[in-house]
Amino acid sequence: MQATTATSTMKEVMQQAWNKRPLIISGPCSAETEEQVVETATRLAQTGKVDVLRAGIWKPRTRPGMFEGIGAKGLPWLQRAKKLTGLPTTVEVATGKQVEDALTFDVDMLWIGARTTVNPFSVQEVADALRGVDIPVLIKNPINPDLELGSGAVERVAKAGIKQVGLIHRGFSSYGNTEYRNAPMWHLAIEMKRRNPEMMLINDPSHICGRRDILMDVAQKAIDLDFDGLMIESHIDPDTAWSDAKQQVTPEKLAEMMENIIWRKEDINSEEYHAALEKLRQQINHLDDELMQIISQRMKIAEKIGEYKKNNNITILQTNRWNQILERAFAKGDQIGLSKEFITKYFDAVHMESINHQNKIMNS
Ligand code: PEP
Ligand code: MN
Repeated sequence: MQATTATSTMKEVMQQAWNKRPLIISGPCSAETEEQVVETATRLAQTGKVDVLRAGIWKPRTRPGMFEGIGAKGLPWLQRAKKLTGLPTTVEVATGKQVEDALTFDVDMLWIGARTTVNPFSVQEVADALRGVDIPVLIKNPINPDLELGSGAVERVAKAGIKQVGLIHRGFSSYGNTEYRNAPMWHLAIEMKRRNPEMMLINDPSHICGRRDILMDVAQKAIDLDFDGLMIESHIDPDTAWSDAKQQVTPEKLAEMMENIIWRKEDINSEEYHAALEKLRQQINHLDDELMQIISQRMKIAEKIGEYKKNNNITILQTNRWNQILERAFAKGDQIGLSKEFITKYFDAVHMESINHQNKIMNS
């Protein structure tokens, strides 16, 4: 009887966390020892900044021989941490058996990891194990930038009857070194939000950054973009962590980050603010219309060039000319505050469109 009461109370605590904005989830990348889990949880709870305790129990590692998680034996540690701190818990699940084990040990929320979201067989297996279960589930974006896989996972879990489904943006892997471990590709997160406006969207700066020195910037950006919360890995002694050591922070450092983030509201109830915003938005609309008109004119000139090249039997792509255009644009962009990254993307898009227009002319 006592246990039932405790469980139903915990369900309420989890519900409150689910509805809280921002929702803050933290805890170690991996559960390593009982002491580590309990001490992390205790120190996190003391900060008063964390709503849900996370810990990886089964770790899908890229290479064999890396620490693959403590396994089901870590689940009672989480139970104990919850009992001591009152924090609801969440773990990553990738198989039906893991779902069963997590539920047996009263885990309060589950998440599907990026390496699982890519595989519809695995997502379906997890979804099947969730049939008839009432538990919130968060779904990480797949490791590759494919929104359909993410949407597919959401649909599979929702079809299994899970009512509370949320998303975690943890970035996308790419070949070679970049500033990030997983490129954030914010536009994809924004598109997921556009497709699922009511669905909770959490940001995971830890797996985007892969290192602690830039965590704060990414977390702030997520909050500026109206994310509903953050999942950040924390460890009592980050440098000695058995997995993802470089990106973890101490519970106290996490609290400091939460203190320093500027939390923003989506909206305010002020006529003056809305009127000023509306005016600026109209200016933006007006400029966007003008930009499109100008780009359309540019395409018409490109078509003329296409005709000229056709009559003289010249190739469409002229590498020297293209390099010239880019060099000019970088220099100009630098003067007027447009980044090289933007100039490159913009001119690539304009150039491709221009080539398509010329191609039509050449082959007409
Ligand atoms: C994790 O959260 O520890 C994890 C393995 O994340 P991801 O699935 O985003 O790689
Ligand atoms: Mn991790």
